[in-house]
Amino acid sequence: MVAAAGAAGAGRPGADVDLGGTYDVVVVGGGVAGLAAALTSARALRSTLVVDAGQPRNAPAHGVHGFLGREGVPPLELVATGRAEVEAYGGRVVAGTAVSARRLDGAELPGAARFEVALEDGRTVRARRLVVTTGVGDDLPDVPGLAERWGLDLLHCPFCHGREVADEVVGVLSTSAHGAEQALMWRGWSDRVVYLQHTGPAPSEELAERLAARDVEWVEGQVVGTEVDDDRLTGVRLADGRVVRLGALVTMTQVVVRGGGVLEGLGLRPEPLLGPGGLVLGEHVPADPTGATAVPGLYLAGNVTAPMAPVPLAASGGMMVGSLAVRDLVADDTDAAVAARRERVPA
Ligand SMILES: Cc1cc2nc3c(=O)[nH]c(=O)nc-3n(C[C@H](O)[C@H](O)[C@H](O)COP(=O)(O)OP(=O)(O)OC[C@H]3O[C@@H](n4cnc5c(N)ncnc54)[C@H](O)[C@@H]3O)c2cc1C
Repeated sequence: MVAAAGAAGAGRPGADVDLGGTYDVVVVGGGVAGLAAALTSARALRSTLVVDAGQPRNAPAHGVHGFLGREGVPPLELVATGRAEVEAYGGRVVAGTAVSARRLDGAELPGAARFEVALEDGRTVRARRLVVTTGVGDDLPDVPGLAERWGLDLLHCPFCHGREVADEVVGVLSTSAHGAEQALMWRGWSDRVVYLQHTGPAPSEELAERLAARDVEWVEGQVVGTEVDDDRLTGVRLADGRVVRLGALVTMTQVVVRGGGVLEGLGLRPEPLLGPGGLVLGEHVPADPTGATAVPGLYLAGNVTAPMAPVPLAASGGMMVGSLAVRDLVADDTDAAVAARRERVPA
């Protein structure tokens, strides 16, 4: 194990922190996945650094739902607690954006640093093992006003927020052949669901029957804007001037990988993320189900590789790659010890 530079566990340092030195584990991205990886590594007595740009995907939402034991916790409170837990075990969490990474010469030697990560502000740091948990961003349909409502009353996941809007009229903004199915799904939470056809196709005869059977109102016409009163969504405006009154709006997003520059330098590129019926949901960076990649010592976890993973799964993916990195380092240390012993004690 190589000691990290600077004092560990001294709070969350800012951009002036010197990152010089080699860490056993560097984690790029300090959301739940990255912090879970870092907690696992720090608890295993490994020098651990998290570099985090501070924008978890769910930051606009009021609460994290469906996370047993922390139901409804505000997203930024959850990661602040996670950071404190990492720091309590000697891990360091620094604010910053990683822009690139490269493999180091001699990376195959036991005990050697394998990666160098460069930050936007010019700082660099070396790592024996690298965990990338940069997550994804959400591209919204091109309708003015949607971005301001995202995560508040513009929603995407019924399991995350369906319960909170169960008493509302819920509009489902269709942009694809999946829109009608999505409206039927939300019918499980609200008995007042409106299918806004928008840019999606007209539902098949069979789907139209299913929508009718579930009393889902089908509104044709393109949505061109939102109606908001006192910072609450009250409806959407259609191109022909009609207003549909709603208390919440649901949409699908296109997910976009964050931290791509870091992965690209290591030979990993985003690939299309396919949903039901081959529908393109955006992109992700594939990895082994454990989070291991084709690059020895590089692991992925959370939404960057599994964009549909909610918080508990992202956290468990982080714990998994943290433990894989540690197991790998223990084996590495043993290899280095054997090599050193052979030099001392020739056969
Ligand atoms: C609006 C909304 C609400 C949601 N609500 C729920 C919910 O109620 N329950 C639930 O279980 N799930 C919910 N989710 C899903 C949840 O957001 C994800 O499961 C979770 O954020 C994934 O964690 P992650 O660590 O993989 O990524 P993130 O949480 O996105 O964290 C990634 C971190 O990496 C940082 N980063 C990115 N690029 C870089 C870089 N180059 N250098 C350094 N740092 C970088 C980011 O700033 C961020 O801090 C919701 C999602 C959305 C969009």
